[in-house]
Amino acid sequence: MMIVMKEGATEDQIQAVVDRVESVGCSAHVSAGEVLTVIGAIGDRDRVAALGLEGAAGVDHLVPILKPYKLASAQFRKGERTVIQVDGRKVGGEHFSLIAGPCTVEGRDQTLEVARVVAENGASMLRGGAYKPRTSPYSFQGLGVEGLRFLQEAKEETGLPVVTELMDARDIPDVVEVADVIQVGARNMQNYPLLSEVGRTGLPVLLKRGLSASLDELLMAAEYVLKEGNPSVMLCERGIRTFETAYRFTLDLMAVPVLRELTHLPVIVDPSHAAGRRDWVQPMSLAAAAAGADGIIVEVHNEPEEAICDGPQAIATERFAEYAEQLQRVAEVAGKVLSAA
Ligand code: PEP
Ligand code: MN
Repeated sequence: MMIVMKEGATEDQIQAVVDRVESVGCSAHVSAGEVLTVIGAIGDRDRVAALGLEGAAGVDHLVPILKPYKLASAQFRKGERTVIQVDGRKVGGEHFSLIAGPCTVEGRDQTLEVARVVAENGASMLRGGAYKPRTSPYSFQGLGVEGLRFLQEAKEETGLPVVTELMDARDIPDVVEVADVIQVGARNMQNYPLLSEVGRTGLPVLLKRGLSASLDELLMAAEYVLKEGNPSVMLCERGIRTFETAYRFTLDLMAVPVLRELTHLPVIVDPSHAAGRRDWVQPMSLAAAAAGADGIIVEVHNEPEEAICDGPQAIATERFAEYAEQLQRVAEVAGKVLSAA
């Protein structure tokens, strides 16, 4: 149930509603918009209805949320879009985020070199995995804590916030020291205990769509983070499995306008993992921006031929300036401005 407060409702009136919702064992999530405050009551709908909140001080009206994902639903923010703040950068709304960097942190020089190039050419954030979800247990699994240190150094030098993947809740203390955004990878989208733990860190989350997850399932996964009181979730379309085998994954760009209708959360597109080949990354990035994506997360490498992981899909640092410039032009046509500090 969504409780819409009157314009000008006082803090005391809002708190009184929260207390009453909690008194029947439900949780209350307050969303303060520009004009209106909305309280999402999560739990047994009948118990909330029995409270008779329609007549309570400061309450305007009640709206049942029919979607199974309540906090993620567009209804919950009454059409207002969520804008997430990441160290001075804004994600969502009219802001376009360019998140760029290597698939994997391989070493100090590689990380710093890529970070410098993407920073000089307008990137909003630096990506790079210190913990890697690899299909084979015999493949390189990431540098772990050492990799986090290189990301920290790159952040200090370039000022770029860091997006990095967390796979295991036991690594949270190390990851939160460095990460500005925690990435939850496609393979962990339905790792519900991990999602709840990530929610409790309070850090912004980039949640990737599972390889065979529907949009409803993606939104339910986001709900796990949101229900911990963490409102900063960006959804990421990164390609899904279909019958097509000519490329790595099918980039579902329909997800962009559809998610923008279903949810208030920002939608980021990852063209790298879908394409699997760098010459297909640029056209799909432009298409994503044209479709209204709130940003792109893209893999970049200083020596793609030598990359330990995902080299064929990495944009070479020499080509990044041109890539970023074209992407920015299309994002502007779609009504967005590149998000920088
Ligand atoms: C990645 O971003 O490097 C990655 C492993 O992504 P995904 O979880 O989408 O496969
Ligand atoms: Mn990768």
